[in-house]
Amino acid sequence: MDSRDQANGLPRTLLAPNIVGDRARKPASGAFARRNPANRDDIVTLAPESTREEVREACETARRAQREWARTPAPRRAQVIGRLGKLLSEQKERLSRFVSREMGKPVREARGSVQEAIDTAEFFQSEGRRLYGQTVPSELPNKELFTYRRPIGVCGVITAGNFPIAVPSWKLVPALLCGNSVVWKPSEDAPGTAALFYELWKRAGLPDGVLQVVHGRGAGGAGEFLIEEIDAGHIDKVSFTGSTHVGRKIGEVCGRNLQVPSLELGGKNPLVILADADLELAVEGALWASFGTAGQRCTSAGNIIVDKRVMPLVERELARRAAQLKIGDPLDESVSYGPFINERFLERWIAQRATGLDDGAEILLDGRRIAKGEEPPNFSGDAERGLYATPRIFKNVKMSMRIAQEECFGPTVNLVEVDGIEAALEAANGTPYGLSSAVYTRDASLMLRFKEEIRAGMTSVNNSTTGAEAHLPFGGNGWSGNGTRESGIWVLDSYTRWQAVNVDLAGKLQKAQIDLVDTREGEPLALDEFVT
Ligand code: NAD
Repeated sequence: MDSRDQANGLPRTLLAPNIVGDRARKPASGAFARRNPANRDDIVTLAPESTREEVREACETARRAQREWARTPAPRRAQVIGRLGKLLSEQKERLSRFVSREMGKPVREARGSVQEAIDTAEFFQSEGRRLYGQTVPSELPNKELFTYRRPIGVCGVITAGNFPIAVPSWKLVPALLCGNSVVWKPSEDAPGTAALFYELWKRAGLPDGVLQVVHGRGAGGAGEFLIEEIDAGHIDKVSFTGSTHVGRKIGEVCGRNLQVPSLELGGKNPLVILADADLELAVEGALWASFGTAGQRCTSAGNIIVDKRVMPLVERELARRAAQLKIGDPLDESVSYGPFINERFLERWIAQRATGLDDGAEILLDGRRIAKGEEPPNFSGDAERGLYATPRIFKNVKMSMRIAQEECFGPTVNLVEVDGIEAALEAANGTPYGLSSAVYTRDASLMLRFKEEIRAGMTSVNNSTTGAEAHLPFGGNGWSGNGTRESGIWVLDSYTRWQAVNVDLAGKLQKAQIDLVDTREGEPLALDEFVT
């Protein structure tokens, strides 16, 4: 990996190569610059805009490499994952600081997301010694039945930029462990992080060709080219994390090729505060769920649904504490959140204000882009060069409003008033999404009711909507995904196919079902009299 000095005393720029064929490639076409969202003068990474031909070559290389990799015994494949986990641990601080600089999440959170990748590697290292199949009793004598997990082939992986190391690890680790090869199109918001992650895979001993990396844009670039390879027969499985809009398009292509993709998509996550809740805990959870990572998590809270008996207190406390959040330089250990990841998210967040007001919502706390000369007192960033904003809270929001229905992906949240658990559940289930959810209550029967009736794939009781663990299934329903799950043992079903094998030791042809025919006629049926 190469790097160069920047003017103005800024840190060096990383040159992130494509990994096509057996080695790192200099860009065949143009390169794009990834800038630090906290300081747009800082070019963090230069990465290639991959061509259609490069993406195809990556798929062909991955196809060749996959055969040998699948023949490598699973426990030995898992040793690579184990070494990766150790290398991630050794490099944790350096990686976390780089993630923070490249995509803007506070370094404390970046450490957590690198830790998530370490946890994932640790979990799947042991899974390589399991990857269990079953022995199944046969209905015929002298016959054995078995099931085996088999790799699917070449996986096309496309990821978003908000968790640039944790989410790719959720896909790459199990896909490779199961004996697949991968062509990865990382987010254009984090190409440098992808390059560092790739280097660790190589150091861990991953053979050449098994993991290919193609950088570039999504629409009209490497992402779309990779999806075209499904129709061409070069990709056997897609794993995608990103917006519902793009996921739907990918799902259509996979559908006509009779493939089941893994689609982890957007969310409009409800956090419910019932009348009996521990309000101190609930407001703390709501604040973190809404404004952690500047609201740029798929599991960020979108709608805070509050019982009318406690709404005045929740409104007052949430607004008071949100106004005090420290915003600024993500490398500052004390900030609550940093900048937007990119201009696209900032622009959508700016437009959301007018949408809310048009729909009749009221502003409880007016979030604004932080401009030079208008910095709030608790701000530690560079307002001129960074993409920062203060938190926005809407009140008197109805579930029919667009701001209650559409994901925004920024520091904004809606307060929706309800009366009791029935109305709370109706509101919480009142969007097309179903990723994460939370309820705050002290009443065990209300907890049970919420767990049973909420449609989300993930539910917290007395905890924030955010926060995953590497051994618990992660994923959503409705517009949040197609029902596949990441993490833990459940993800193995996404990267393997079941093979059923029967071994007949009878020395003569035995026919299941047919050789066991029971010829007794049984009692006549009432309908027999209609049979002519
Ligand atoms: P996005 O869908 O625009 O981009 C995600 C990835 O897809 C990027 O690598 C991008 O280059 C690529 N891409 C874009 N258009 C493409 C196309 N036409 N064909 C192929 N690839 C294409 O998503 P975003 O807006 O950058 O990221 C935020 C979204 O991701 C939010 O909706 C968020 O909720 C979601 N997300 C979901 C999860 C989850 O696990 N459910 C996790 C993180 C983020």
